[in-house]
Amino acid sequence: MIDNDFNLKMSAKVYTDQWTRLINSVDASHFQIHPSMVFVPEDVTDVISICQYAYGKEIPLTARGGGTGLLGQALTKGIVVDTHSHLNRIIEIGESYAVVEPGVVKTVLDKELKKKGMFLPPDPSSSNFCTIGGMIANNSSGAHTLRYGSMIDYIEELDVVYCDGSMSTIGSSTPLDHRCGSVLPIILSNLGLIASSYPDTSKNSSGFRLDALVRNASYFPQRVFAGAEGTLGIITKAKLRTLDIPQFTILLVCEFLDMVNLLLSVPKILSFHPSALELLSFGRLRSGLDQYKERDLTDFPTIYVEFCGESMTILEQLADRCRSALQQRCISSRILSDVTSCNAAWNERRNSLNHILRISVGNKKAIGIIEDTIVNPSLLEDYIPFVLSLYDSFKLDYVMYGHIGDGNIHTRPLVDVQSSQAEQIVEQLAHDVFLKVRELRGSISAEHGDGLARSRYIKEMYGIDTYWLFVQTKEIFDKKNIMNQGKKVPLA
Ligand SMILES: Cc1cc2nc3c(=O)[nH]c(=O)nc-3n(C[C@H](O)[C@H](O)[C@H](O)COP(=O)(O)OP(=O)(O)OC[C@H]3O[C@@H](n4cnc5c(N)ncnc54)[C@H](O)[C@@H]3O)c2cc1C
Repeated sequence: MIDNDFNLKMSAKVYTDQWTRLINSVDASHFQIHPSMVFVPEDVTDVISICQYAYGKEIPLTARGGGTGLLGQALTKGIVVDTHSHLNRIIEIGESYAVVEPGVVKTVLDKELKKKGMFLPPDPSSSNFCTIGGMIANNSSGAHTLRYGSMIDYIEELDVVYCDGSMSTIGSSTPLDHRCGSVLPIILSNLGLIASSYPDTSKNSSGFRLDALVRNASYFPQRVFAGAEGTLGIITKAKLRTLDIPQFTILLVCEFLDMVNLLLSVPKILSFHPSALELLSFGRLRSGLDQYKERDLTDFPTIYVEFCGESMTILEQLADRCRSALQQRCISSRILSDVTSCNAAWNERRNSLNHILRISVGNKKAIGIIEDTIVNPSLLEDYIPFVLSLYDSFKLDYVMYGHIGDGNIHTRPLVDVQSSQAEQIVEQLAHDVFLKVRELRGSISAEHGDGLARSRYIKEMYGIDTYWLFVQTKEIFDKKNIMNQGKKVPLA
């Protein structure tokens, strides 16, 4: 129970009732953990007060945005800090940047940016609900990462409240605080180790992104918070780079008879430099397929190839040339250039996870543990058949979709969760797939993060020496292990 004297110092609401704790005990993962209390700050001063309180009492504390994390990142038995309810102002929109509080929902920001002809490129399918704070903390991306990169590439400056309640503004042109200053020598004395142990991929949300902090002899300390899942501090303000919206887009949608033909087409498509290359395949979903047929969704593997630019004539020629290059392998194709048809096609792709999360056939559930791996796209021909053969060996139905242009595959097996072998099967799948990912220098998480589900695999993915750098980083920021305990580096 929260102390009375503490209550007096705050304008924030503090909830300990069963209903609020229940709502905050779940996210979009299969985990459930009841927090001891839920704190709803009105402003940054409240966040500072709660951090001081938690630090003094050594109570774990976890920030929560939209609660759409897929791996249990926002769950804790300690205090939940709800950044979504009040810390949600758009503070400023400049010529090529936006300054926002962390609780702003992505589509709310999109709408305001659009009025000025700008956008923030990372576009998770959950954009109607997820917040900027959650997107930074998970280093989220989406369909357009292929051209534009992930959240880490757009963070210019952050205001962060640390575990002890101290506050700092962090960016490449602001004075370094003690914590961010202490990380730099660790990186500089381990450049070789970092270069060899990080994945060879275009995006990565596993572990801490120490590989992205030093570029061209400049230090970007703000990037350490990208993908850190709130384990290093609570973000209370973000200045983000924005881009101009491209004038025209065109979409090529192709169906393939099977995955092999589709995979063999990926390098060819990439040579046309699309802005997005997405996959949707309901794979082998014998038991759940009827639900999709009702929605007129195809059961042939389908790709969505988007081109963008400033001339529709050039885009039409490009899409046409790409279509011709695929003619031998695909069984149908259509080029869409009007907004309504493009939006309808994108919605098919974007809603795939929503549909999949709802699938449950009897006791069978779509389990998300290997659902966000990434390998260099040139290795997909090796990687995807390997995953499919594993599914075959366990006789599992599955779905597969995602950002195939980046080599980022979202896939879920349908597992009978009541079966006595369920746990063993999921463990074995994760073990075999993550081993393969490591062999191929991929990552166990491209954009969804580690959370409760995957943090225990980080050591294996990076190796013990780099994991030790993560432990040192965590200790610099949060020695008492208050901030989002149990995620990233579960300290004893
Ligand atoms: C249907 C569906 C589709 C999805 N599609 C995509 C996709 O295409 N691409 C993608 O990348 N992800 C996707 N996701 C995953 C998820 O939506 C994103 O990672 C999202 O950015 C999480 O934002 P959130 O506000 O819901 O964060 P939450 O789930 O609330 O929190 C996520 C993490 O961020 C931390 N956090 C939140 N706010 C702060 C803060 N102010 N300071 C510090 N830490 C903070 C939390 O502690 C937690 O560790 C999808 C999820 C669903 C359910």
